[in-house]
Amino acid sequence: MNAVLKNLIAAEWVEGAGVSRNINPSDTNDIVGEYARADAAQTLQAVAAAKAAFPAWSRSTPQQRFDALNRISVEILARKDELGRLLAREEGKTLPEGIGEVARAGQIFAFFAGEALRLSGETGASVRPGIEVEITREPVGIVGLITPWNFPIAIPAWKIAPALCFGNSVVFKPAEIVPGSAHALAEIIARAGLPAGVFNLVMGPGSVVGNTLTGHPDVAAISFTGSVGTGRGIAQACVAATPMKKFQLEMGGKNPLVVLDDADVKVAVEAAVNGAFFSTGQRCTASSRLIVTQGIHDRFVEALTERIKGLVVDDALKSGTQIGPVVDQNQLDQDLRYLKIGKDEGAKLHWGGEILNRETPGFYLQPAIFTGASNAMRIAREEIFGPVACIIPAKDYEEALAIANDTEFGLAAGVCTTSLKYASHFKRNSEAGMVMVNLPTAGVDYHVPFGGRKGSSYGAREQGAYAREFYTIVKTAYTNPG
Ligand code: NAD
Repeated sequence: MNAVLKNLIAAEWVEGAGVSRNINPSDTNDIVGEYARADAAQTLQAVAAAKAAFPAWSRSTPQQRFDALNRISVEILARKDELGRLLAREEGKTLPEGIGEVARAGQIFAFFAGEALRLSGETGASVRPGIEVEITREPVGIVGLITPWNFPIAIPAWKIAPALCFGNSVVFKPAEIVPGSAHALAEIIARAGLPAGVFNLVMGPGSVVGNTLTGHPDVAAISFTGSVGTGRGIAQACVAATPMKKFQLEMGGKNPLVVLDDADVKVAVEAAVNGAFFSTGQRCTASSRLIVTQGIHDRFVEALTERIKGLVVDDALKSGTQIGPVVDQNQLDQDLRYLKIGKDEGAKLHWGGEILNRETPGFYLQPAIFTGASNAMRIAREEIFGPVACIIPAKDYEEALAIANDTEFGLAAGVCTTSLKYASHFKRNSEAGMVMVNLPTAGVDYHVPFGGRKGSSYGAREQGAYAREFYTIVKTAYTNPG
């Protein structure tokens, strides 16, 4: 076993108050690493370090920020195969998916390196004669970044990169079960030439490290991605704090993919398989509701079933694996619980849902589809977060759209159709933050805004140029030149 990997506070790698083990979900005998677990006192130290670093960093030049972010990007991209392997080993997505996610993280840092140079303000004329008005953007302050386990490097990247780009200092708390990618990213950031304390890593439980951040008066803003329940608690903590914090929440989804009678079946099946089952269905943008109109229903179900039967579920690191294991025992238990709930509710488990044995002990689950589901069932309303999709029949487009929008969530939605009329209508009338036509619900480019509506998201959008809304604060300044 290698040395325990440490937290980064004020540019020092420090031991924790305990140690967490990181287990490979493809092979539970394989311990990926041991990680220092920070406590509340260390989280306070990290906030203090970020506070001390903020005045200078907030006034750093665009060139300094560009250089640091660009260095981080270059190293991530150069090491994408190695880091992708680490990611796949600790999270269970396949090696190509892991490498793809790491590449995305590298591209995000490159994008925000450029954004550092592009930040500009506005000038305007006052309604009062001779008075000048300037509108500028300043960093928010110390930001607490709290991330989930399902994108162990991309989500941290899409929070850390804009935070640093706009001159904030950072305390980063990754999800407990995927510290490896977070630690590797922190090592890269630590080498990028940032002043001490600008970036801090504190690994540990949400109830300790996360709570300390959300309750701390010096933390000006919290960016959170995770489940709805945790998000709601974080919102309450941010509002209860003095002063109140700025916060943004990206949470769950129950994303619909509508398949219309005039769809190309092949295109629809590929969109459904990718959206519902790739990354083991563990994506907030996963298409867990397949809403299919009656004229194509049977053909679609047959073609989808054939396609799913051929998917290779195996060790995430094995070449040829298309679906890796579920992330851990808790998530597997949740998936199995919902498979039972769906059957008890009267949906038909059409295919899959079996636990699979492979060469090594892991959390292998066959992708599962329910048919004959109704949108009132719990399997159609609650986020399962596994390789489980339900097919909900619909009479026609109008009914399919109504079902698609009948959810507390609103992250992503898709439609498969060859009709321009339906495609345009769906784009305009879907109550989701991201809408796809003839594409999987998952998979948004790194340079455009990402986020949802209704119960899926709260606050400013992430990624692309829109990220500046969260990571900057607007100042309106007046001058009377005399
Ligand atoms: P989670 O809510 O359990 O945990 C997310 C993070 O919050 C973790 O780092 C956790 O330690 C921390 N946390 C837990 N309790 C906390 C507290 N009291 N105070 C502060 N922080 C606390 O979510 P998860 O299981 O890691 O991730 C899965 C969820 O994330 C799913 O619901 C998924 O839909 C969602 N997700 C959403 C998006 C999106 O952009 N909308 C993207 C990916 C994942």
